[in-house]
Amino acid sequence: MACNFVLFRRGQNFSLHTHTIGFDGQNTPVEMIARARYMRIKHLGISNHFIVHPNITQTKFYPIALERGYDAIYSSSFDEAIAKFKRHYSELNQKKLKEYADDCDVKIYRGMEVDFFDYPEWRSGFEQALKILKPDYVIGAAHFVEYDGMLRNVHDFAHVDDKTRDEMLKLYWEKIGRAAESGLFNFMAHLDLPKKTGAGIEEKWVEYEQSTIDKIAKSKTPIEINTSFYNRDKDEPYPSARILEMAATANVPVLISDDAHQADHVGRHFDRAREFARSCGIKKFLTCRAVLRKTR
Ligand SMILES: [Zn+2]
Ligand SMILES: [Zn+2]
Repeated sequence: MACNFVLFRRGQNFSLHTHTIGFDGQNTPVEMIARARYMRIKHLGISNHFIVHPNITQTKFYPIALERGYDAIYSSSFDEAIAKFKRHYSELNQKKLKEYADDCDVKIYRGMEVDFFDYPEWRSGFEQALKILKPDYVIGAAHFVEYDGMLRNVHDFAHVDDKTRDEMLKLYWEKIGRAAESGLFNFMAHLDLPKKTGAGIEEKWVEYEQSTIDKIAKSKTPIEINTSFYNRDKDEPYPSARILEMAATANVPVLISDDAHQADHVGRHFDRAREFARSCGIKKFLTCRAVLRKTR
């Protein structure tokens, strides 16, 4: 595939939160690189989902993923996830792909978007996985909460009664705070993800958001401004203005992500997100090097 014309870019020239085919993305690394070049993204990180939990196949979401063919994002054990990522990373390491990326003047990085689970066996399993896979960086996320003895996906927030949803939301914010405090992650993904189901937008959630931002600030974990919420015809990214204002006040470092699940989302809405963040008081944006620098 030829790398033809490119766009002019003044803002952030890296994108570290993207997904590819074989997991739940729609395009190959080659297609993502070609788009990165077009968007003037010089550093492209591929960060497929790394979601490991012994009960993951019992979630309501698993059969749907299986049917749609992206069940590779879920693993019941670390051994299973490690085997998948070994294969995946060896594809990203292929000489042909590197040469193509070089031709496009794009540097590629091996990342992962990790669902954090807060128990000791998970942590030791994950630390072992890091030693084996040696990713260039890891993104912390929570797409699930453990509620009433079951794993519930954020999408389930739309189908429960108000009381249950509130309890799940409290668990969600608690988990995000704990994930930041774990010190495992280069940055945290889409902080207010539950708003995709309309959950957590009321004023009463401010105190939970604030206490999570306080934990994030104390742990010096950066957060992303994730432009994928714009793709749902919304005029804000993740997180909301009120959370970004808290982040600005607490000096939480930020970067912009597209969370691209398809090539034409790479680098999308970056300038819009930057303006939005500025209007919330964010003054400084991290460089790619600063995001990757974290020593684990
Ligand atoms: Zn995510
Ligand atoms: Zn993602």
